[in-house]
Amino acid sequence: MEINFNIPTKIIMKRNCVLENANLIASYGKKAMIVTGKHSAAANGSLKDVVDALESKNVKYIVFNKVMANPTIELAYEGARLAKNEDVDFIIAIGGGSPMDAAKAISLLAVKDIKEDDLFTAPITSPVLPMVFIPTTAGTGSEVTQYSILTNDKLETKSTIASPFLFPTVALLDGKYMQSLGKFTTINTCLDALCHAIEGYLSVRANSLTKTLSIEAIKLIAKEFKNLESFNLLDDDRDKLLYASTLAGIVIAHCGTVAVHILGYSLTYYKEIDHGRANGLLLVSFLRKVNETMPDLINEILEALSLKSLSDFEQIINTLLGNKDVLTDEEIDKYAKKALAVPKLKNTVITLKEEDLKQILTESMKG
Ligand code: NAP
Ligand code: ZN
Repeated sequence: MEINFNIPTKIIMKRNCVLENANLIASYGKKAMIVTGKHSAAANGSLKDVVDALESKNVKYIVFNKVMANPTIELAYEGARLAKNEDVDFIIAIGGGSPMDAAKAISLLAVKDIKEDDLFTAPITSPVLPMVFIPTTAGTGSEVTQYSILTNDKLETKSTIASPFLFPTVALLDGKYMQSLGKFTTINTCLDALCHAIEGYLSVRANSLTKTLSIEAIKLIAKEFKNLESFNLLDDDRDKLLYASTLAGIVIAHCGTVAVHILGYSLTYYKEIDHGRANGLLLVSFLRKVNETMPDLINEILEALSLKSLSDFEQIINTLLGNKDVLTDEEIDKYAKKALAVPKLKNTVITLKEEDLKQILTESMKG
């Protein structure tokens, strides 16, 4: 057996953990920059809790609340300039994957001069600003990963800055901020987490420890399918979804994502399909492809889902996603070719040729 496992992020999960950990937050410096989206942090109480925690310890702060969905490179540089000008000691991210990923790039660029052209390739050899992360969606797991994913217009896709120095310092998990999260975002983010757990399971980099985490995350999410459908989520359900997405984040921190995410990036970049939905749309067809040669692995996943067949799974996913988005033949061709050129496609447990990728896209999204 071979295991290589490391999560440097301190994880604290508890209702009201932001206020209860004011001392810990204040230990990272005298001035913080809060990185967040335009509206939700102010509306769901997370920003107030952070501000109250900082003020209770006389920590100064500035708020950078400009992060859009699928954050851009320009936004990261803008945030970093502000962090430098304001001489902040640490970064606090509040929000979904978009503010969290932007915050990682800001923490990096605030201490290191990297030219835009080198952003995704420059070696990162020293610590970035300390990062306190408060996820307010249960999906990306970015609070426990070393990835910052930004929109890359040069390559017409989403690209990743990856470094062990980008693991957040602390993740504070409180499901109460998700009470206001609408059905659409709750389902999409949950499907994102499910894809992380499943793709990690079907990565050549999976080991028995990551597989255990994948199975646990899949089980937790599967138990919530009915509640997601009726959109009847109590506090305990929100907590479980948040816990599952963090587990799935730890999985991708070790295994990365594979074919579904690689194909999904084109759906987001070209068709503006939400990240989690893009992955959800492609998942079952991908599993069918794996099932052709590795049915045992698929059976293990079905068992964790408490389902008998991929058709049963497809029905559930279809219900959650509603009307499907449609691609043309030209789009299918283009996205398959793009995915084929991505080196990490080879981390998938099966070899995928261009025809296989086209088949996954066609089955999932042909009108
Ligand atoms: P998001 O883009 O961060 O947020 C989606 C929407 O949800 C925004 O409108 C946001 O509003 C709103 N929102 C967030 N929390 C809310 C709450 N508690 N209540 C009400 N509304 C809330 O979406 P996401 O799916 O979480 O993140 C997607 C991004 O994560 C993509 O860029 C993807 O590439 C990235 N990702 C990163 C990793 C990683 O390991 N780093 C893994 C997977 C995905 P505001 O804008 O007003 O906040
Ligand atoms: Zn994802």
